Amino acid sequence: MRARLAIVGADVITLDPARPHASAVAVGGDGTIVAVGDDAEIRALAGAGTELVDGTGLTVTPGLVDSHIHPVWGALLARGPELRDVRDVAGLRDVLRAERARLGPDALVRGWALDYAVLDGVDRPGELLEELAGGPALLSYFDLHSHVATPSAIARAGVTEPPRLDGNSEIVFRDGRPTGELVELPAYWLVNDALDPISPAQLRDGVRDNLRRFNALGLTGGHAMDGDLEAYALLDALEADGELTMRLVVPLLLLPQTSDEQVADYLRHRDDRGALWRGGVAKFFADGVVESGTAWLEEPDARGGGTDCYWPDPERLHELIVRFAQAGFQCATHAIGDRAVRFALDAYAAAATAPANGGQHRIEHLEIATDELLARCAAERVAVSMQPLHGQWRAGDRSDEWTRRLGPTRAGRAWRAADAAAAGALLPLGSDWPVAQADPRLQLGYARLRRLPGRADMPVLDREQALSARRALAGLTTEAAAVVGQSATAGRVAPGFDGDLTAFAGDPLGDADALAELPVALTVVGGRIVHRA
Ligand SMILES: [Zn+2]
Repeated sequence: MRARLAIVGADVITLDPARPHASAVAVGGDGTIVAVGDDAEIRALAGAGTELVDGTGLTVTPGLVDSHIHPVWGALLARGPELRDVRDVAGLRDVLRAERARLGPDALVRGWALDYAVLDGVDRPGELLEELAGGPALLSYFDLHSHVATPSAIARAGVTEPPRLDGNSEIVFRDGRPTGELVELPAYWLVNDALDPISPAQLRDGVRDNLRRFNALGLTGGHAMDGDLEAYALLDALEADGELTMRLVVPLLLLPQTSDEQVADYLRHRDDRGALWRGGVAKFFADGVVESGTAWLEEPDARGGGTDCYWPDPERLHELIVRFAQAGFQCATHAIGDRAVRFALDAYAAAATAPANGGQHRIEHLEIATDELLARCAAERVAVSMQPLHGQWRAGDRSDEWTRRLGPTRAGRAWRAADAAAAGALLPLGSDWPVAQADPRLQLGYARLRRLPGRADMPVLDREQALSARRALAGLTTEAAAVVGQSATAGRVAPGFDGDLTAFAGDPLGDADALAELPVALTVVGGRIVHRA
């Protein structure tokens, strides 16, 4: 077969045991790899219609896949400037003033990924924000569990007293006035939708732009953990327009408020797919996050939190996991606390069925896990879908909320990536963007260094959980393919595999600190160049 794309003169890390290294690779017209070899072999496959890339100086790896990312949810929530690098109030003022100048006096100024430390201890953050932004503003903290709105934004949304909201969501009032704090998403949506709702066209363009940004970071695929049938329709529309530039596995999300009719409907959509995206996965939340006391723990945290499942009726959650698993869905359960992990394992064991897609049921996050739970994951063929990158918010002196709530013993079991691998569990890695940075180079570096690459000033809190360079790369390639049952067609540079490639201007297995600045030269999805530096 003639090649659509051929890269020659490169160093190809294939992750294929049959041929670990090559200098050239060709992708055919059907988007799969037709040959891997030396330059002469691959040049022989090139013709008039072949895009021939001189790979001199490039290191090519299998296309990098983020096993936990939210391109759709991010398009809905990550609006305005990213505030991840803002360190203090003065820095926040600079960003917000620039937005105000750009948008005009009456517009809603937005921002996301704010560090809690910036407004820590401020009595009425909404009033300070009003001053900083010079008018109405709405910001989200990095974990998207808390948000801040100015009093003017809250008033414009028609909120004059604490509204009734789902779950523990709240627009906080004190002495009859809003403090500006919005707890959990229902409060955020109330203000957002009154002032600045997102249109279907904006959402579509937002998802498209996110995928392009991810491509530029070297990502070719993702497990997009925010699916519903609207997301499926959106991906179909993007694909029809040639704008779906990542290969996505997209779960359907089941929540406590999901009705029985909705459940029945979702069960009919197991085999939905396009050319580059597919469903077949059901996503559940067994708990929340440690910092707010909503991670489900075997023993309460230091503030008495962590005692509850996210579902008011855990029995129903268990039944639904079993039902979707037995219908052939792959199940993915958000379980941060040790009790939540045990709950998910028990439900998967009760279902006693492997996913129809050939992958493994999976647990998302596992921020603290005992030896026993890791051994169960390995023995029961349940994948450990972990985000070591989330360790970055801990303080070197252990004064952060995550560490304080868990106490030394449990905090000593943080993101046990090396132990999970040693136990024999599948270990796909993810960022959970927009929660953490989507950049896979930061993921690779963090997994190896247990701090961000290029940031020698950051504390290293659990060096023994560092992964080798190859094991970290496997987390974004072969393990990411295996968890969704695609070991035979994805995650390697080998004939017959998906033509998904990432090329760096240097060796991603080299100095881990250099990953922070390692240029992404080329990103290829199905033989199509989706990013070129
Ligand atoms: Zn997530």
